[in-house]
Amino acid sequence: MSQATLIPGQAIAASLRASIREELEQWPDTRPLPCLVVIQVGEDPASSVYVRNKVRACEEAGIISEHRRLPADSSEEDLLQTIEVLNQDPNVHGILVQLPLPKHLHAARVIDRIDPNKDVDGFHPINSGALFAGQPRLVPCTPAGVMTLLEHTKLNFRGAEAVIIGASNIVGKPQAMLLLAAGATVTLCNSKTKDLRAHCLRADVLVAALGKPRFIQADMIKPGAIVIDVGINRLDSGKLCGDVDFEGASQRASWITPVPGGVGPMTIAMLLANTLKAARGNF
Ligand code: NAD
Repeated sequence: MSQATLIPGQAIAASLRASIREELEQWPDTRPLPCLVVIQVGEDPASSVYVRNKVRACEEAGIISEHRRLPADSSEEDLLQTIEVLNQDPNVHGILVQLPLPKHLHAARVIDRIDPNKDVDGFHPINSGALFAGQPRLVPCTPAGVMTLLEHTKLNFRGAEAVIIGASNIVGKPQAMLLLAAGATVTLCNSKTKDLRAHCLRADVLVAALGKPRFIQADMIKPGAIVIDVGINRLDSGKLCGDVDFEGASQRASWITPVPGGVGPMTIAMLLANTLKAARGNF
């Protein structure tokens, strides 16, 4: 097998962001510009970087955004009250609570309180239920971004074997629903899966989202597979790497996403797309 073709996440995300910016340049003066508020509780350094990137991407696209910081010891009531005020504000179209939350706060209860029409992360049970029912509204950004990357290959996924490694609410589970909707036969693996390698070797589309650096080695990849690496792991050297051994996998796969520059930029672009969708109100 020759070297896999790179799926250029950075460029695909940039073109999506440019099209959002163009649409916003034509936005009618009579309507408030789309506005996203990102709530961060505490000062987790990784979260601060993620939130800064989201806010900067909004600014570049012409979306109004606010980084709302709450102290690490905020009570759940304080946080719910903040969300409630934003729910009622007609000038706010998207509300995102940056995860993880400090341990004393209950993420599911907090997400439940976000107006489902402003839930641009797509984590509210109304939105995950709609996705499950095959009627997607606001879809979680990372798996939605993966679908856009897959579309780039122009391949048809009807009848394809899709194997997802990792079954979180944020990535793996919604990814399974989206691939199922695209006609794939989906296998969703988790840490208890027996003989993971055998599952991987059947995959025409392999999505790695388990959070273990370079866990997926070349000999776990079916020759010619499409490999999507969702993982973001920081090595002791400070370098970022994915869940896939990129060098080895590139020798077996037909298409592959790099880390960084693959799924990561798509997640942010889809957040902007969801904020625009929420502002349009057309679900
Ligand atoms: P998580 O920890 O919530 O879930 C991990 C999942 O992987 C679980 O279902 C677990 O059972 C499964 N798993 C763990 N070890 C396994 C193994 N050995 N075999 C099979 N399954 C195994 O993680 P998450 O939030 O879904 O994130 C997963 C990875 O994706 C992380 O590296 C995270 O940083 C990254 N991520 C990237 C983006 C992005 O924008 N690119 C967005 C979200 C998450």
